[in-house]
Amino acid sequence: MMKVFEAQHHAEAHFVTGLLQTAGISAEVRGESLFTTVEGGTAIPGMRPSVWILEDGQQEQARDILVAYKTGEGVPNYSDGPWKCPRCGEIHEPQFASCWNCGTENNKE
Ligand SMILES: [Zn+2]
Repeated sequence: MMKVFEAQHHAEAHFVTGLLQTAGISAEVRGESLFTTVEGGTAIPGMRPSVWILEDGQQEQARDILVAYKTGEGVPNYSDGPWKCPRCGEIHEPQFASCWNCGTENNKE
């Protein structure tokens, strides 16, 4: 099990899961029960729905698909690639300014 994507909302989580499943990757949405308990529908950081892949061996393929999804392009683009948290080792997509796992900021730039 490995988290590959943190969605902004319920619909995005399911959309991304569908993309992965279409590519033959076993994926599922987690965190929905927490998300739906938030009053007013406002997402709380750390409680947003996330997408998990079931087999770690499919991580690279999943990441390619997610990068393509986020950049709006049909092909992977690693020009500003994922970064690794120096504290906990979590891998993040480039648009995340800080670690979703421990809060450490990305000091790459
Ligand atoms: Zn971290």
